[in-house]
Amino acid sequence: MIYDAAIIGTGPAGVSAALNLKILDKNFIWLGSKSLSDKITKAECIFNYPGLAAVTGQELNNAFQQQIRQMGIEVTEQMVNSIMSMGEHYALMAGSEFYEAKTIILTTGVANTVTLPGETALVGRGVSYCATCDGNLYRGKTIAIICNAARFEHEVAYLANLAAKVYYFPQYPNPAVCMENVEVMTEKAAAVSGEGRANGVKLGNGEEVPVDGVFCLRSSVALATLFPKLTAEAGHIVVDRAMATNLPGVYAAGDCTGRPYQYAKAVGEGNIAAHSVVEYLAL
Ligand SMILES: Cc1cc2nc3c(=O)[nH]c(=O)nc-3n(C[C@H](O)[C@H](O)[C@H](O)COP(=O)(O)OP(=O)(O)OC[C@H]3O[C@@H](n4cnc5c(N)ncnc54)[C@H](O)[C@@H]3O)c2cc1C
Repeated sequence: MIYDAAIIGTGPAGVSAALNLKILDKNFIWLGSKSLSDKITKAECIFNYPGLAAVTGQELNNAFQQQIRQMGIEVTEQMVNSIMSMGEHYALMAGSEFYEAKTIILTTGVANTVTLPGETALVGRGVSYCATCDGNLYRGKTIAIICNAARFEHEVAYLANLAAKVYYFPQYPNPAVCMENVEVMTEKAAAVSGEGRANGVKLGNGEEVPVDGVFCLRSSVALATLFPKLTAEAGHIVVDRAMATNLPGVYAAGDCTGRPYQYAKAVGEGNIAAHSVVEYLAL
C-alpha cells in the first residue's frame, strides 16, 4: 500500500500535520512516539500557547493526546532510520518495517544527535541504529548500546536477551535496565573504534571495551543519515513559505526548519505542510 503521506515525528508540528491531514481526508501514516515529544512534557509552564493560559507541558501533552484520540488518529511507534526516493514516491525504513508514501512531512524537531567519532563511517559494519533489524546478528555476542532516552529501554532488553554481554551507555538520568548480562557503564562512550568494522568503544578515561557491535538508540536521527538528499543549512531543513523542501512532495515543519523553537510556530508550520501536501496530491 502506498500512503498519500507519511508524517515523521510526533511533536506539536506532527500533531498539527496529522490533525489537518485527517480533516482533509488523506490516507497517511504517522511515525514516532505514542507519548508524543519530550519537549512538550518537559516544559514547566507554558505562557505563550494561544487558548491555553499557563499550562504545564504535561497538560498540553494531555490535551494533544485527547484530541488525537477523539479524531481517531493512530501513531505507529517507530523511529524512521532512512528515507529514499523511489521516483514518483518515497520509501521509509523504520526498524525492520518498510513503508511507502507519495509525500513526506518531516517534523523531527532539532536533530540534537551528536554522533561519536568513528560511528558514521562504520554504519552497517558493526554500527546499527535498529535493534529489531540487526539484533539477530549479535546472538551470543558482545555488544555496546548507546541510548539517549528511557523510552528505548524495551529495545535494550530485547538486545540483551539475544547478546551474551551488553555494555550499556545510558545518556539520560536513572536508567532502569537491570539484567544479569548488562553492565551499566558510568564512564562515557567517547568513540567507536575499528578499521573497516566496529570492534570496540573507547571510553572517556582512555580505556577501551572490545565489542562485536555497537547499537545507537536515539530519539532523533542525524538529517544526513535520515535523508541524505535533503538540503539543510546549519542543521535546519531549508523550506519555502509552503514548507516545501528541495525534494518534490517533501515538506518540513517545526523546529527542524529553524528558529524560533516554539510550539505555536511548530503547529502553524505543521498546518501549512498538511495543506501543501493536499495541493501537491491534487496536481
Ligand atoms: C524545557 C522546554 C521548555 C519549552 N518551553 C516552551 C514554551 O514555553 N513555549 C514555546 O513556545 N516553546 C517552548 N519550548 C520549545 C518547544 O518544545 C519546541 O519548539 C517544540 O516542541 C517543537 O515542536 P516540533 O514538533 O517541531 O519538534 P519536537 O517537539 O522536538 O518533536 C519532534 C519529535 O520527532 C521525533 N523524531 C525525531 N526523529 C525521528 C525519526 N527519525 N523517526 C520518528 N520520530 C522522530 C522526536 O523523537 C520527537 O518526538 C520548550 C522546550 C523545552 C525543551
